[in-house]
Amino acid sequence: MSEVTRTVVVKSTPLPRKLFRVFVELEGMYRNVVEQLVLYAARSGVTSFTKLKALKYGELRSLYPQLPSHYAYTACQDASTRVKSFFKRRKKGLARRDFPVVDRVSMWLDDHLWRMKGLTSIEIATHRGWVVIELEPHKQYWKYLNSGWRQASEAKVKLDKKNNRLIIYLVFKKITEAYRPRGFISVDVNENHVAVLVNGVVYLFETGFRDMVLGYYYRRKRVQGKYDKLYGVNCRVKRRIFRKLKERKKKSDLKWKLANIVVRVAKERQYTIVLERLGKNPGKEMINHIKDDQLRHRIYQASFKGVQRAIEEKAREHGVPVIYVNPKNTSRMCPVHNTKIVYSNGCRIGRCSKGGEIWHRDIAACYNLLFKARLGNGSNAPSLSGLNLDGSPMPLGSTATHDPTVVTKTQWARWKPLDAINKHKPIKMSI
Ligand SMILES: [Zn+2]
Repeated sequence: MSEVTRTVVVKSTPLPRKLFRVFVELEGMYRNVVEQLVLYAARSGVTSFTKLKALKYGELRSLYPQLPSHYAYTACQDASTRVKSFFKRRKKGLARRDFPVVDRVSMWLDDHLWRMKGLTSIEIATHRGWVVIELEPHKQYWKYLNSGWRQASEAKVKLDKKNNRLIIYLVFKKITEAYRPRGFISVDVNENHVAVLVNGVVYLFETGFRDMVLGYYYRRKRVQGKYDKLYGVNCRVKRRIFRKLKERKKKSDLKWKLANIVVRVAKERQYTIVLERLGKNPGKEMINHIKDDQLRHRIYQASFKGVQRAIEEKAREHGVPVIYVNPKNTSRMCPVHNTKIVYSNGCRIGRCSKGGEIWHRDIAACYNLLFKARLGNGSNAPSLSGLNLDGSPMPLGSTATHDPTVVTKTQWARWKPLDAINKHKPIKMSI
């Protein structure tokens, strides 16, 4: 059993100016409180929420008597989270400054500070009393409200000062239970593709994440080079251009779509998803040729970690079990003979050094992941031993080993079920 949490973002209707000003004041006080707490926590090293609250609650109450008392609690939680993550980043050498800076603020609300009022409005406690806010519900909001998700007591509110609106982050939770699996679906992720093996057929989904990251990187560089000289490093024009690129959103849309396809297929068949166990460092052999550390990290995050995380999340939501196996040699060894596959430079298709049969890199990887999963211990021995194989030299169909069903981005991004894709190009295994 596991609990899944999702945040749904809803906008309020535009507020009357006077009412919006109440929230501007509220946010100002909240920001001050958080700033004080963060400063104190970073100096004293007290990062625990309970300790922070015990030490500072009285002081905060006397400083801001007009503020509903629970803001002191939630601000402590907010500050504690900020400082903890700052310390973590500093430990990794990723922090830019010596002290955490409170930059963007969203007000944390607990069950004493907000409540639903009907289905399309909420009430928020402010220093001027309770205020009713009308929401602008959307499709996704109704979906969560109507499909077995439980609304959590916490929420966050941010101010959209341009449009006099509030942006409300509602949290939904659901408890799911994994089923007893009847088989496996193995997923091999690489920098530009995701290969999925279902019932003897390998589907190769194009993601193009490496090209996307590189493309955005060079575009950014060009824009920086042009505008930094003209207007300085922090100019607005540049920021606007960057925002228009929407790199993050495009990547994340693709990730979730792909995760949805994989998880749906697994759920329909009641299979377990088999993934590679990824290491902490982006030491993947395939992106080693990229020299720039940051760039390599970005490609790794987008293509490997990102896709895996999306699949994990979706799987948890739908009760699909996931297992991890050792990724060592998965694309280098022949799944049939357990010998090296020889790839001539840079080619994705290679020849088995023993049986002489041809392998597509991603197909070999998928089968090896599957066999490792079946062996059950994620060990390094990728072989067919233990499976009933009669020793014939070609257990796989003549095309199955080197000819995956390629699914282009335009195809799968428009939601095609796998059966529809497969209609045109059936490849069968003959194990
Ligand atoms: Zn072989």
